[in-house]
Amino acid sequence: MGSRPTTRIFNFSAGPAVLPEEVLAQAASEMLDWHGSGMSVMEMSHRGKEFIGIAAQAEKDLRELLKVPANYKVLFLQGGARLHFAAVPMNLLGGKKAADYIYTGEWSKLAIKEANRFCEVNVAASSEGKNFTFAPEQSTWQLDPKSAYVHYVSNETIGGVEFNWIPDTGKVPLVADASSHFLSRPLDVSKFGLIYAGAQKNAGPAGLVIVIVREDLLGRAMQGTPTVLDYKVQAEADSMSNTPASYAWYIAGLVFQWLKKEGGLAAIEKRNIAKAKLLYDFLDASSFFKNHVRKSDRSRMNIPFTLADPKLDAEFLKGAEARGMVQLKGHRAVGGMRASIYNAMPIEGVKRLVEYMREFEAKRG
Ligand code: PMP
Repeated sequence: MGSRPTTRIFNFSAGPAVLPEEVLAQAASEMLDWHGSGMSVMEMSHRGKEFIGIAAQAEKDLRELLKVPANYKVLFLQGGARLHFAAVPMNLLGGKKAADYIYTGEWSKLAIKEANRFCEVNVAASSEGKNFTFAPEQSTWQLDPKSAYVHYVSNETIGGVEFNWIPDTGKVPLVADASSHFLSRPLDVSKFGLIYAGAQKNAGPAGLVIVIVREDLLGRAMQGTPTVLDYKVQAEADSMSNTPASYAWYIAGLVFQWLKKEGGLAAIEKRNIAKAKLLYDFLDASSFFKNHVRKSDRSRMNIPFTLADPKLDAEFLKGAEARGMVQLKGHRAVGGMRASIYNAMPIEGVKRLVEYMREFEAKRG
């Protein structure tokens, strides 16, 4: 990392979230004139050779990072992950009446609610009984062999629960909302029918959703599916059936190049493990701060924690802000605090947070 401009703070937001400074600096330097084109990427026709080149390079780099097999399409779409809560059943039901969903928190709740508009949802496993603090083992899943697909949220952004393993659903396609840990670790894409991720956590700005889908699942969109939501149409149009989120796509491309330069996903995963360990080790040793998630299922990206006395929350947040750390307030659905420490969060940010927590505990604990 280069030297930090003094005005940059440590941003622990769950998304839109911190981006690599090198990426932001490069985008700034290319803002008025991208590579001698005399234009900003924002001003380019998506049909022009410059943007077609940017888009193709981004896809190539993403494929390389994730080792995406050749029989998968990579789509750069819009609407946020939540639109794809609907697009997934619209595209994948293929005439079947039901789909299996794993219920592990706020985002799976919303995915289920949306899928219910299109099909029968069989909740095959749930962690609701334990306040969404764990990822149910596959041995407890009650899958319905008649289901069109099995959906799970592989990292619950709000609860901070991450699947550290990939479920095996046999012939039934596995679908993951991987929004909040996408590109934080290597992933065996071949185990999935479809993976989708909103970009605004680890991959770029809001407005872009990346969908990776196995080719044989295309071409069965239900009647009434909007054309721009039909994954087959978009695959055939290189994600340009309509005007894509071109600037967001370009920034995501810069993030992919940054990831490659940093050593790829295995190297980033190592760093993410070290960052998360720093915070979890502190939490486990503390008698004042607490994380409630089962150890094996703790997220490396989103780390919720509570103070022993919630009356001190406001004071904690105020002190954090005074020390250059923002967006630590937990989601309103669960309260407490949450530190999102995505790829672009430097370890210095986590160190500063832990230092501050230690100091706060000594004073108030
Ligand atoms: N799924 C997950 C796991 C998320 O974290 C989010 C956003 N925080 C969403 C879906 C929804 O994304 P969007 O608001 O971009 O539709």
